[in-house]
Amino acid sequence: MTEPDLSFRADDPRRNLAGLTRTELQSVLGEAFALNEKRARMRASQLWRWIYHYGATDFSVMTDIGKEMRAALAAQFVIARPEVVERQVSSDGTRKYLLRMAPGIEAECVFIPDVGRAGALCVSSQVGCTLNCTFCHTGTQALVRNLTAAEIVGQVLAVKDDLGEWPSGGERRRLSNVVFMGMGEPLYNLDNVAKAIEVIADGDGISISRRRVTVSTSGVVPQMKRLGEDTAAMLAISLHATNDALRDELVPINRKYPIAELLSACRTYPGVGNARRITFEYVMLKGVNDTDAEARELVRLLKGVPAKINLIPFNPWPGAPYECSTWRRIEAFADIVYRAGYASPIRTPRGRDILAACGQLKSASVKKRASEARREAAV
Ligand code: SAH
Ligand code: SF4
Repeated sequence: MTEPDLSFRADDPRRNLAGLTRTELQSVLGEAFALNEKRARMRASQLWRWIYHYGATDFSVMTDIGKEMRAALAAQFVIARPEVVERQVSSDGTRKYLLRMAPGIEAECVFIPDVGRAGALCVSSQVGCTLNCTFCHTGTQALVRNLTAAEIVGQVLAVKDDLGEWPSGGERRRLSNVVFMGMGEPLYNLDNVAKAIEVIADGDGISISRRRVTVSTSGVVPQMKRLGEDTAAMLAISLHATNDALRDELVPINRKYPIAELLSACRTYPGVGNARRITFEYVMLKGVNDTDAEARELVRLLKGVPAKINLIPFNPWPGAPYECSTWRRIEAFADIVYRAGYASPIRTPRGRDILAACGQLKSASVKKRASEARREAAV
């Protein structure tokens, strides 16, 4: 028997309900069936549980909804997923996906086991990025567009399908955390990111609490307060340098919002405290930012900020102008950080055999298609 194809079809005129917020679902249903507010709310709650708790993709399984209503729903709506264009499983259990949201709109996400409580899904918030961090492959790709909230939630749904993680919740879940560390700058798409978090965190559905959702930013200072107030998500900062001259080069948004301003916004991030620390990411670039002096400076800079430090071995990509620091250098750097009281500062490279860093699966597949096209043209 072939698997039913649940992926979203651009030529299907029916509206996709998967990924909508409660309010959106309520208004879509209210409008479609001329329901008053109370009935629309009830209907939305029923569907909500089916879509986000049970992972239903077919109205016919919704046994608490009358047969006629189910048929009426199926005539107008679908519950679809982004299409899995590529799926790679690494020897360490890391799973990387390239998903097609709509024609020409492809984004990737990576599931990493043993991160957070059980495993973390790294989602994309944009296709491409407007920023140009020099060590980041996504930074070499122009922004195609923001992902909608439904497309961000769609990444979680597609991976839960693949992990067989329905119904949601339960003690043995593998997908326990969501991190916005895929393609794009989430704080340049904050409305959609906030809506997606609202759906992901809802206790009647996917039920991944806001404390297990981390949003990583390159330092869009003016949006940080709103992120905290609107989402109560955990914050991660891509720091990568300890002085403005170097950070201006590596993370060019630093020219607009320099380190002192960034750290001051961290100190006042809503809810920050020893139980809710901010993660500082620091990518280890050989001969660029990896001296002992910089490790000491990093510790000094973060004094007074409730912080965790994450040293990320640079994940090279074809044509990248950097190399990863040697393992000995990373350990020496980590040792200084560790002695200053920061636990387990090195993030072990995951999924190396499938190039699980930002932007890389997408570019590999684009390349493959280009070479296939060339081959076909040559025949
Ligand atoms: N735009 C946001 C979130 C996406 S990037 C941000 O910049 O924070 C997620 C993390 O991956 C960031 O810390 C980023 O600096 C890091 N990163 C990007 N390219 C990398 C690479 N080639 N190797 C290691 N880390 C990388
Ligand atoms: Fe964009 Fe983040 Fe990559 Fe910088 S590191 S280019 S902000 S995705």
